[in-house]
Amino acid sequence: MNIHEYQAKQVLSSFGVPVAQGAAAFSPDEAAAAAADLPGPVWVVKAQIHAGGRGKGTFKEADAGEAGGVRLAKSREEVETFAAQMLGKTLVTKQTGPAGRVVNRLYIEDGSAIARELYLSALVDRETSRVAFIVSTEGGMNIEEVAHDTPEKIVQITIDPATGIQGYHGRKIAYALGLEGQAVKQCVKLIGNLYRMVTQKDMSMLEINPLIVTNDGDLLALDAKADFDSNALFRHPDIVELRDLEEEDPAEVEASKHDLSYVKLDGEIGCMVNGAGLAMATMDIIKLYGSEPANFLDVGGGATKEKVQAAFKLILSDPNVKGILVNIFGGIMRCDVIAEGVVAAAKDMAITVPLVVRLEGTNVELGKQILSTSGLAITPADNLADAAKKIVDAVKAVAV
Ligand code: GDP
Ligand code: MN
Repeated sequence: MNIHEYQAKQVLSSFGVPVAQGAAAFSPDEAAAAAADLPGPVWVVKAQIHAGGRGKGTFKEADAGEAGGVRLAKSREEVETFAAQMLGKTLVTKQTGPAGRVVNRLYIEDGSAIARELYLSALVDRETSRVAFIVSTEGGMNIEEVAHDTPEKIVQITIDPATGIQGYHGRKIAYALGLEGQAVKQCVKLIGNLYRMVTQKDMSMLEINPLIVTNDGDLLALDAKADFDSNALFRHPDIVELRDLEEEDPAEVEASKHDLSYVKLDGEIGCMVNGAGLAMATMDIIKLYGSEPANFLDVGGGATKEKVQAAFKLILSDPNVKGILVNIFGGIMRCDVIAEGVVAAAKDMAITVPLVVRLEGTNVELGKQILSTSGLAITPADNLADAAKKIVDAVKAVAV
């Protein structure tokens, strides 16, 4: 789960990481009020969207002003002007895709005088199963480009969880970043605090780009991107509160309400499957038979009739779906319950696309009987290959 920059900075601050003063604003008035509380003489108006590259981004609307999603204001009046120009407008950056994101929130921050821009991130390195810090002297820019063009400028340090974070980790990073004077000591403290934040909050990624050295020689986190492990969110109600549903795909938000794992894809065959492994296999076999899956959807182990109905609704909300393949292995989940759910949903929603159902496992005979006596145009299938072939053929037949 991602959170906004200003929220990430609040969490950073609570772990003792230095950030500039600032406040969120949802209207030009609030932006002006926020600026009034900050000393200046320069203020930064920052679009809050769950995507980076805002500074170099462009707005779709002509009346959104010249500069991108991060603007330096030289007066409080200018803060209000920028806020009015940016709010409600669509910002397109390298990370948003061409559709862009509507800016509903701003962060008004006290401007910093920058001597150097550095890169720092911490993430869970899957190869070593450890927290790794990645740092570079080339901050402020696209780190993927740095990694590609000048990989020697990126330094990685992994932390052994048995010993935890140590002073020498921080000193190594300070050396790699070419820090001097008071910044070295600050770096050691910073790395310790960041490590505590990442581990205590079950974060999967924390990126500070840029981490700056100010004109006074101090370290400051100027940007922050934070990603939390969704599987551990039950331990962090304070983080869950920061969730911004407007930034998430509406279909995936709807899915999470029903405890369904749904990921939208670009194909034409909607899939309803139980178990992530079977869902992956189903997607593979659809491809093998010459079509593309429209989604990944795992209804989980204990699906109810209501859950199956919600799943159908999700699949059908995608206009690209030309056929649906239901592939259920009834273990904990009984085939008759699935069949009832399928029939109820099909009657409810008047499904007009071909529907192939493959059931196997507990109460399979009863399930098949429910389907065949439903009076609905449901094509039964006997195994995975048969099911995939039938739905691909049905979709192709409609297309001809
Ligand atoms: P991003 O473009 O989404 O990554 O947004 P950032 O928060 O990283 O800001 C982009 C760039 O704006 C930074 O790399 C800085 O060069 C500049 N910037 C942001 N805040 C300040 C500030 O307080 N003072 C100055 N001088 N520049 C800033
Ligand atoms: Mn940045």
